[in-house]
Amino acid sequence: MRIAMISEHASPLAVLGEEDAGGQNTHVAELAAALVGEGHDVRVYTRRDSATLPEAVSTLDGYQVCHVPAGPPRRVPKDELLPYMGEFGSWLADTWRRGDWTPEVAHAHFWMSGLATVHAGRRTGVPTVLTYHALGTVKRRHQGARDTSPPGRIGYERALGRAVDRVVVQCEDEVRELVRMGVPRSRMALVPSGVNQAVFRPDGPVAPRDPARPRILTVGRLVERKGFLDVVRALPAVPDAECVLVGGPPADLLPADSFARRLHTLAESCGVADRMKLVGAVPREEMARWYRSADVLVAAPWYEPFGLTPLEGMACGVPVVGTNVGGIADTVVDGLTGDLVPPRDPRALGTAIRRLLTDKLRQFAYATAALDRIRSRYSWKRCAEQLGAVYTTLATVARPAPAVA
Ligand code: UDP
Repeated sequence: MRIAMISEHASPLAVLGEEDAGGQNTHVAELAAALVGEGHDVRVYTRRDSATLPEAVSTLDGYQVCHVPAGPPRRVPKDELLPYMGEFGSWLADTWRRGDWTPEVAHAHFWMSGLATVHAGRRTGVPTVLTYHALGTVKRRHQGARDTSPPGRIGYERALGRAVDRVVVQCEDEVRELVRMGVPRSRMALVPSGVNQAVFRPDGPVAPRDPARPRILTVGRLVERKGFLDVVRALPAVPDAECVLVGGPPADLLPADSFARRLHTLAESCGVADRMKLVGAVPREEMARWYRSADVLVAAPWYEPFGLTPLEGMACGVPVVGTNVGGIADTVVDGLTGDLVPPRDPRALGTAIRRLLTDKLRQFAYATAALDRIRSRYSWKRCAEQLGAVYTTLATVARPAPAVA
């Protein structure tokens, strides 16, 4: 089947860890590769953010990445890309209409991609699917006035839920949120992300570590909602352990990063600065080494649309202490594959980490159960199969004649 994936700001080719590059980039790259593995013909459309990028490149994984000339040919923060989505959608429609490659289904990632995709779908008759990855209602609830989303995001997301042919949701929490927004449950298909188990596995090289100290690992973009400040506040309750944070800008740019400086100041005032280590961005292919070096992975976001890092840690055989939010509440089974604590509660977090680090038997039991869970439920192959079934039902449904541009 010919499948278009539209991911306006999150390119599968981007370097991860920086502010707008994280789980969605990984998701699109892995899903595209898995769909190719199922025999599909896949093209990923992402915004051209550099004057020098060629229009289309092929990846080693067998899909093509097409760089759409919409908006300025430079990096623009994702929240400022809305004005270019009409141009993006028109470019898609023109390209698909030219007829040398017209998709049988178009799957948009993130609401802005959804706008461009619906625009193109209406003009070409191509059925549309949307994965939100994150919801404006949740962001507004947690970030209030600091939410930099364009005004109108929530209204657009609500309308998109009815405009696309199918909404792909990633966790139960997202289902509840969308139902509250008025998106009918019957339009949704629940298909969680996977994890690359050839890369994230228990055996393999390990990043250097101090054998005398238990290691807590936490991973993510250096943004407040990832809860890293709560992890620092939890550290006094876990004497002796070192905490390694992977993510953010490359290591040489960390001293200039305002959030990294905030973390450092807090670590000093909590008396844990000597046990807190910021590594900066790590290339995707080196992530497994860092997971394997840890005794526990901590994922402490205030909210999390899905959360790939707990899956990656579990696939490497590392027990997880996570907050009971979003996708983490589905992927980590409390008391069986890890521990769940309330978000923004450093005391509960510290207690759970200390209890786990002092109980080798529990660590082993969690890690073993987590591996079983990953192997039986969270492969990209399974995700691609489930999505393939969704796409097939849409592509075979008769469509009204497309609107004339
Ligand atoms: N990641 C990476 N290098 C880094 C930091 C993160 O490759 O330095 C990857 C990480 O392995 C995961 C993704 O970025 O695949 C983060 O995804 P998650 O869903 O946890 O968070 P998001 O960025 O989507 O909020």
